[in-house]
Amino acid sequence: MDGLKRLKNLTLPELESFAVSIGEQKFRAKQIFKWIYQKRLSDFSEMSNMPKNLRAALSENASISKLEPRRIIESSHNDAVKFGFLLDDSKHIVESVLLIDGDRRTACVSSQLGCGLGCTFCEKAIIGFIRHLTLEEIIGQLIGINDYLFAKGDRLVTNIVFMGMGEALSNFDNFINALSIIMHEDAFNIGARRITVSTAGVIPSIERLMREDLTIGLAISLNAWNNELRSEMMPVNKKYPIERLVDIAKRYHNQTGRRVTFEYVLIKGVTDTDEAANALQKLLGGFPCKVNLIPVNPVSNVNNSVQSPSDRQTEEFSYKLHDRNLAATVRKSRGQDIMGACGQLTMYYI
Ligand code: SF4
Repeated sequence: MDGLKRLKNLTLPELESFAVSIGEQKFRAKQIFKWIYQKRLSDFSEMSNMPKNLRAALSENASISKLEPRRIIESSHNDAVKFGFLLDDSKHIVESVLLIDGDRRTACVSSQLGCGLGCTFCEKAIIGFIRHLTLEEIIGQLIGINDYLFAKGDRLVTNIVFMGMGEALSNFDNFINALSIIMHEDAFNIGARRITVSTAGVIPSIERLMREDLTIGLAISLNAWNNELRSEMMPVNKKYPIERLVDIAKRYHNQTGRRVTFEYVLIKGVTDTDEAANALQKLLGGFPCKVNLIPVNPVSNVNNSVQSPSDRQTEEFSYKLHDRNLAATVRKSRGQDIMGACGQLTMYYI
């Protein structure tokens, strides 16, 4: 594929420029867009509404790659499917998860290979940062998941969360370009209200997102109720402490009207105490946000002393927050039997 333009690495305006550069009209770009993202084709000869000479010109000048799903593991509870996609560098496999809940088909996608932020409760922290995923690698995960759903006769992806491996906002350009394709009516046509990006709280990246004027959901990994504890769990806190996170969450809400979610990992005896509930009330009280409680998942090789609270203890902590006028939900840990739950997605070498 050397020297060929990789079309899935192009936004629509870039695809339009490419069409013009090979002597075609701009409108052809939208047709190509539909074939690539809605029909999920990778063979130009099948693009039947385009003239033969255009299809020949595309074959000579461009390529459409597809990520190969090397592993597909279905949860025994039928509520999650984990995918391992082989990347084009042929050295790495990146994981994504499909979560199934009623009519909702949520794709949890990865945006980096590894992650450099080093949170102590996370599988990716063991690997460290390797590289950003390209635009086509981010979008390729969605295409692969839709291929799977289509083959099952199921509905296609309805919601997307950038909560897989890596910090999407640190791979900013590829993330924003991926959104432009995900939201485009000739591609995935998924609206901002059905997209959420999760962040460990890199404040300049959140500010940059706000300048894009999008109204996607924002989920901030809070996970601790004071700076000392959070810095221990998430080294990024040393640079961007909790008070600044709460401040930017308020600004995000004011600008977008979206209620920000604070993800909060429950670790038995550490983050599920009365003291924690009181501190969360002080930090988040009177501000329209939601606390999503996530009982910590077992992660291989990471801090074996970390224990998950029981279902009853988790429920009790959520009542403590409700009693303090905080909206709290407990995230159902879909896909735990396939290591596809929060903090468990990873990559591996082949
Ligand atoms: S929790 Fe998120 S930010 Fe922290 S190491 Fe894992 S992927 Fe990176």
